[in-house]
Amino acid sequence: MPEPAALLDAALALPFTGTLNGAAAPAAGDFGVENPATGREIARCPETAPNLVGGAIEGAREAQARWATTSFEVRRELLLEVADCLEAHADELAVLITAEQGKPLSAARAECSAMARGSLEGFSSMDLSPRILVDDAAQRVEAHARPLGVVAAIIPWNFPIHTTIQKLAPALYAGNALIVKPSPYTPLATLRAMEHLRSVLPPGLVQTLAGGDALGQALVKASGVDKVSFTGSTPTGRAVMAASAPSLKHLTLELGGNDAGIVLADADPREIAPLLVRSAFNNSGQVCHALKRLYVPSTLHDALAEELVSAASKLKVGDGFDAETDLGPLANRAQFDIVCRLVEDARERGARVLCGGAPLDRPGTFYPPTLLTDCTESMALVAEEQFGPALPLLTYDEVDEAVARANASEKGLSGSVWTPDIEAGERVAARLECGTAWINQHSAQPTANHVSFPFGGVKASGIGRERGEEGLREYTQTQVINRRK
Ligand code: NAD
Repeated sequence: MPEPAALLDAALALPFTGTLNGAAAPAAGDFGVENPATGREIARCPETAPNLVGGAIEGAREAQARWATTSFEVRRELLLEVADCLEAHADELAVLITAEQGKPLSAARAECSAMARGSLEGFSSMDLSPRILVDDAAQRVEAHARPLGVVAAIIPWNFPIHTTIQKLAPALYAGNALIVKPSPYTPLATLRAMEHLRSVLPPGLVQTLAGGDALGQALVKASGVDKVSFTGSTPTGRAVMAASAPSLKHLTLELGGNDAGIVLADADPREIAPLLVRSAFNNSGQVCHALKRLYVPSTLHDALAEELVSAASKLKVGDGFDAETDLGPLANRAQFDIVCRLVEDARERGARVLCGGAPLDRPGTFYPPTLLTDCTESMALVAEEQFGPALPLLTYDEVDEAVARANASEKGLSGSVWTPDIEAGERVAARLECGTAWINQHSAQPTANHVSFPFGGVKASGIGRERGEEGLREYTQTQVINRRK
């Protein structure tokens, strides 16, 4: 296999193009994409003018009308071809993800291979066949899952290919067409993946348009879009919901999180510390369901803090192209500035930094894994979604108090409880106001997520579910066929 640097040079030497009706989309201009490890521009990305949205929808509608007549078997075959195509180009796509997003190359490769295949195979193994509601002497009544039409997929920058495929797989399997808009920070791997997929997908079935927030707004407002599947921040989610209202679009909103973990007094610090550290710092903390706040019993604080520092200090921060790297840079300057500001603010308000706590003195947006203690909910680092590699520790004395403090957030994506007493863990988990409550794990462990587990938030963390049969059905509408005998 060629070296990553050679692969990247070759990938960047080819022009990037959006995909419109199976061919290169015309560009109205372009914008720069930076490598966060160097701060240098690596490519110009073509920008689709918002006035092309109408043509994209028209092409998608025509493709969708044909696609809706296909069987689930035909759709599954196509989705498996998509998985094969992504796998065949995974080396190229992975170097693009690492170069534009910063994450370690192995994690970038997993996005284009195992994770993508998991979504594509998983959704296309689910059963959407009609449900028989009544079948007696008088009538037969069936509930059919019909497609919605054209779906707009609006994507953030933390998992560009994974998030795209997690929307593409259920949308297409349910019989819809898709229009993808990647984040302007990380458009390159997605554009290239869709260029490769032109040889697999019927023209128009998946359109890919690159641009900034104005392009997203144009898609969300357009009356020909039937559903918006949005993943991104809570403020943008609110804007998407408002803009979708006039045309009454279906919506799935996967929004921000501020996940709390509650350690119970009988937990073993040495055993749980490496798992907690991975859950907080995976992808440099830029995971919507990363551990963001840790509630620790006062009696366990010192022992756990020591183990956490020891586990965090083993993580190597570096360029994602370095095979030794565990944590890459923060994905963009704006996110880096947020993390710097929030950690500094917490320190000024009395938090004690146990490790990390300041950006690395080198080009790029590198921030080390940071543990802080003596934290309170009055600090923005605790109260807001910081989306970075910082974990504040908050001590408590009574479990009821910890649950109340964990729940006193507008966010409710996921949470976790850490204890060898599984029944006690289940009792606390049931009281957490969140879409997923883990026991003795949190997001980053291999058993924490699967395409068959419905995932999503409560409160300001979102509306609807992705993944699982619930997630698939969000790309359908039910039609009842009621036949009198
Ligand atoms: P963001 O909300 O700034 O942008 C997300 C996407 O929305 C981008 O493509 C952007 O161009 C587009 N956009 C911006 N304004 C728009 C508008 N008014 N109308 C339509 N589209 C618009 O989010 P981000 O900074 O890219 O991503 C980080 C956020 O995403 C974090 O809050 C994180 O928690 C969240 N996230 C949530 C999940 C989840 O599953 N719940 C998963 C990953 C990320």
